[in-house]
Amino acid sequence: MGTGYLDQLRQEAFEINMAIVRERLVILTWGNASSFDRANGILAIKPSGVSYSLLKWQDMVIVDLDGNVIDSKLKPSSDTLTHLEIYKGFISVCGIVHTHSPWATIWAQACRSIPILGTTHADHFNGDVPCLPYLEKDKVESAYEKETGIQIVEFFKEKKIEPTHIPGCLLSGHASFTWGETSNKAFENAIALESCAQMAYYSISLNSKIEFPYYIQKKHFSRKHGSNAYYGQS
Ligand SMILES: [Zn+2]
Repeated sequence: MGTGYLDQLRQEAFEINMAIVRERLVILTWGNASSFDRANGILAIKPSGVSYSLLKWQDMVIVDLDGNVIDSKLKPSSDTLTHLEIYKGFISVCGIVHTHSPWATIWAQACRSIPILGTTHADHFNGDVPCLPYLEKDKVESAYEKETGIQIVEFFKEKKIEPTHIPGCLLSGHASFTWGETSNKAFENAIALESCAQMAYYSISLNSKIEFPYYIQKKHFSRKHGSNAYYGQS
């Protein structure tokens, strides 16, 4: 097999990394995105600490499932091991976006899950977007990035949440991760998360006792997702 598929994966990851900057989800180097080629067990991710203004698609770093760098000169993002654990744990996920976008990060710093308050949220996230607790001291000190990924996967497994039904989470004191079946989906979910985080903040400030009916939530999520989806053009 040639290496053309590596370049294709690099280009895909590059597009998403530039898109999160363009959409103002990321300033400075506060974020990273990756694309996963599940058939070949490799991902392409942003290189560590490289300014977005200098980034080229050729700079995207290819990493295998054991974290080995393949055919790349630069060091991968320091969050690579988090991405790897999510790909290993969520088998339908092929794209991940991590950003410190302000509204989602405000909720993460307040250690609050983003409550589902309306149909905009329900179209993308079938329930509250959970905020996971602070990672324990020993995990932070021993293998921070890997443990962060394990924490996310175990949380969703324990709570029996299908990761494509709530394709994102917050980490207390940190920021957000979103994911999707493609990297473009992960990107869309990052945009949706940021917008829902902002809307939830203001909605609660106007009415702290909102009880969004479950039957409307269910309707909105299911008409866009799942076997009976009918939203959009068929
Ligand atoms: Zn971060």
